[in-house]
Amino acid sequence: MPAPLETLTARLTRTRDATRAAGFDALLITPSPDLRYLLGVAGESHERLTCLVLPADGDPVLVVPALERPGLDGTPALELGLEVAEWTDGQDPYALVADALRRSGSLATRAAVGDTMPAAHVLALRDALPACQQELASMVLAPLRMRKDSAEIAALAAAGKAIDRVHARMGEWLRVGRTEAQVGADVAAAIVEEGHTAATFVIVGSGPNGASPHHDVSARVLQPGDLVVVDIGGPTPEGYFSDCTRTYCLDEPTAADVAAGYAVLQAAQDAAVAAVAPGVSAQQVDAAARVPITDAGFGDRFIHRTGHGIGLDVHEQPYIVAGNALVLEAGMVFSIEPGIYFPGRWGARIEDIVVVTDSGVTRLNHRPRELAVL
Ligand code: ZN
Ligand code: ZN
Ligand code: ZN
Repeated sequence: MPAPLETLTARLTRTRDATRAAGFDALLITPSPDLRYLLGVAGESHERLTCLVLPADGDPVLVVPALERPGLDGTPALELGLEVAEWTDGQDPYALVADALRRSGSLATRAAVGDTMPAAHVLALRDALPACQQELASMVLAPLRMRKDSAEIAALAAAGKAIDRVHARMGEWLRVGRTEAQVGADVAAAIVEEGHTAATFVIVGSGPNGASPHHDVSARVLQPGDLVVVDIGGPTPEGYFSDCTRTYCLDEPTAADVAAGYAVLQAAQDAAVAAVAPGVSAQQVDAAARVPITDAGFGDRFIHRTGHGIGLDVHEQPYIVAGNALVLEAGMVFSIEPGIYFPGRWGARIEDIVVVTDSGVTRLNHRPRELAVL
């Protein structure tokens, strides 16, 4: 389900204006969420070059391998009326990019290339356009992508509801005697059942594994009294991601310090959410999350930033991190996910996605945040 044509047309125009305003001659985007943002299709990234060439002055051209061209039928990429430059195996697709820029009258001295463009394409473009300095396209696209319109916020809210439904069912799967991997497989299936197109990540960190924030799943068997960090998400058909963490306990916690530690964590998560408002900086929100945790003496156990933007990527700008002076605006969407981690023992994290509104903040996840005893 791509964005409507008029939305994509407006984004292309705004992006071209921003490209010019930033002093670039062109924006070059290969298959990625950036491409989905602009053309409604993400495409597939591999050794054959697909590239949107968006000159700062002039019309966009989509360079596409001939065998990928039929896949564009019926997609906005064609309905937008872009010029499509097809190439067949054995031809040089990078010369087509250079040619598109030449025809637009571009000097091609400075180009913004997609942040996740494969190095193989980056270097080949360097050879095809030796006088062209390459910089990151996020300079142009991040300010646009991080200000969500109402349809994007609705899509993120739907993603939040879908992942809330999965958390609501956790008691079906999270049981003593099962492995993290078994639980994870059931959770992954439910993520799809509840309205996502894929389960992009499923973290089931039980007992000591909960102290590793990006643990995956393992063969560890769940024990009575374990704390279990469950951090899950995926994209909905619109391409917008969910990402929500809850920490569960299998019966009463074994470790004596869980109740006090968890209460501090919950206070930190609430404090950070309460700090969100237009005009507040990203680093102020991060600092707000740290106050209760530091005051309780666990400052060095909160080992990551407070959050990340979310949209067509799971992790995107704005990052809620010390040193980021970016001022929040209505329409920005990001996670608030403080955690505390005691290596070899236990860990806990609470994560909600929030939207900055005109007057403050709205959460997009609504499952209870208390330690959930199953
Ligand atoms: Zn993470
Ligand atoms: Zn997460
Ligand atoms: Zn997250």
